[in-house]
Amino acid sequence: MNRGTLLIHNGHEIEPLSGALGVPIIQTSTFDQGDLSGHQEYDYARSGNPTRKALEEIIAGLEKGALGYAFGSGIAAIASVLGIFSAGDHIIAAEDIYGGSWRILNTFYKRWGLEMTPVDARDPDQIRRAIKPHTKGLFLETPSNPLLKITDLPACLGIAQEAGIISIVDNTFMTPYLQRPLELGADIVVHSATKFLGGHSDVISGLAVTKTEALGKRVYAVQNSFGAVPGPWDVWLVMRGIKTLKVRMDAQEATARQLAAWLQAHDTVKQVFYPGLAGHPGREINEAQAAGAGAVFSFKTRTKEQALRFLGKVELAATAVSLGGVETIASYPVKMSHASVPPAERERLGITDTLIRISVGLEDPEDLIADFAQALQ
Ligand SMILES: *Cc1c(COP(=O)(O)O)cnc(C)c1O
Repeated sequence: MNRGTLLIHNGHEIEPLSGALGVPIIQTSTFDQGDLSGHQEYDYARSGNPTRKALEEIIAGLEKGALGYAFGSGIAAIASVLGIFSAGDHIIAAEDIYGGSWRILNTFYKRWGLEMTPVDARDPDQIRRAIKPHTKGLFLETPSNPLLKITDLPACLGIAQEAGIISIVDNTFMTPYLQRPLELGADIVVHSATKFLGGHSDVISGLAVTKTEALGKRVYAVQNSFGAVPGPWDVWLVMRGIKTLKVRMDAQEATARQLAAWLQAHDTVKQVFYPGLAGHPGREINEAQAAGAGAVFSFKTRTKEQALRFLGKVELAATAVSLGGVETIASYPVKMSHASVPPAERERLGITDTLIRISVGLEDPEDLIADFAQALQ
């Protein structure tokens, strides 16, 4: 089956007991254990819930992995996956991973003895050079946020495989509809399902998928121990979102391409960062490893005042954090996602006060272009 069909025919399209087209929401904390024979699958809902299990099987199938796990947020998924490492282990991480992932490595896990080396993952040699005898993990994210830098996944994941390092890829921006890191050599994929998978800006949720059952069991041990699990209603919203991922992603990407190209030709715009545009330095690598460029891009105006005026005047885009919903969202990284990054470090990364990130929604492209035109005037 092709990628779009798999989103619908995922093994849970018909519920066997009633014939319902969909997965029932099983709202319970505990399960009757009958004669205590120990043969039943569920005992307590932190350890397992049938609604959650359905989503876990669906995401494992979509990512072509062995086992999937659902969490209460993307960061809960990432924190739980990082929980498979031990004090004294060393992790290599791309320097522009999601701010929350950066924070948990740099504060929480640092206190627990997990050492981290940041690298510019656009250069696979930096990963090779950062490997130490006690390196146990590699954490990547592509395209990156907010500058849409592209990491060559097969090259970097190959280095990790050779060195026997567990590689983790945050696939939130692309989703398994556009990119499947496990097929490119990754060991674990993580998601903020809050974004494109949920797709409607109405739920916080996270997922992880492992390539092997053995790794899956290690993630499960953390999921059950930390207990950062989602409730069945939130899980159900994510499953419902996944059903329409294809049409949303196709339409949002098509509009992103139009809007990004239009902005690139605008006088007030200094630069547009989008892997779907000719001239983007990572475009060819992205095309080789992903089936599309996604629906998030960023751009720089010529002055800070222009950026602030745009955010104040734009009407069809909410000024907010988050991405991947049906509504267009404009975010201002220096005041939002990267506010806690020291200014000098932000400057080095290219995150300036003229930078705006756009998550393109399902509005008609002509309306978005007209609105952006008035906001930039
Ligand atoms: C939002 C996001 C996260 C964190 O997910 P939450 O659901 O907000 O906890 C992780 N990675 C990426 C790339 C994200 O965009």
